[in-house]
Amino acid sequence: MKAVYPGSFDPFTNGHLEILNQAIPLFSKITLAVAVNPEKPNSMFGLEDRLAFLRDIASEAMHSEKIEQYIQIAVGSYPVKGPGALYTVDYAESVGATHIIRGLRNGSDFEYEFAMAQINKGLNPKIRTVFFMADTDVSSVSSSMVRGLIGPQGWENAVKEYIPMCMWERFFKLVV
Ligand code: ADP
Repeated sequence: MKAVYPGSFDPFTNGHLEILNQAIPLFSKITLAVAVNPEKPNSMFGLEDRLAFLRDIASEAMHSEKIEQYIQIAVGSYPVKGPGALYTVDYAESVGATHIIRGLRNGSDFEYEFAMAQINKGLNPKIRTVFFMADTDVSSVSSSMVRGLIGPQGWENAVKEYIPMCMWERFFKLVV
């Protein structure tokens, strides 16, 4: 089975990684995809930088000794507004996926994701959404929380707790 894990990934966090690691044993291919909304100019990292983070994650996962089965991890993006915009389900179908991966942190994620999964099924019933629950130690991690930590003295050590080590060097260079 093939899946797409879509998100803003602004930036990718240990919360996202936790969901990806739970999904890996169930799929032969996972496409990490940045959903780009050109009408939302308030992202901190540009598309190319977010894709570069995802490539760091993909290559780390594909070379990990901890992952025993064959897994292909691809990276992509699609616009959700403006010219060429696609629904996530249709992007998923275009890359040969049958499932969309989403993560749940809490009740409000559930409310939103439950509605979204039903809408997505209506849009394209061939594509199903599967959910993975955050482990308690990453359930409070979000991209906005990571962005909010950048700046004050000692931020490097604070942020390192919440993003995957394989993207730290790139992250640091982009932020300073
Ligand atoms: P979006 O804008 O699509 O919500 P995000 O990058 O914020 O993009 O999140 C992508 C997916 O990852 C969502 O399903 C979100 O609920 C999930 N996610 C984000 N952080 C965590 C976390 N700490 N634990 C579990 N799931 C998470």
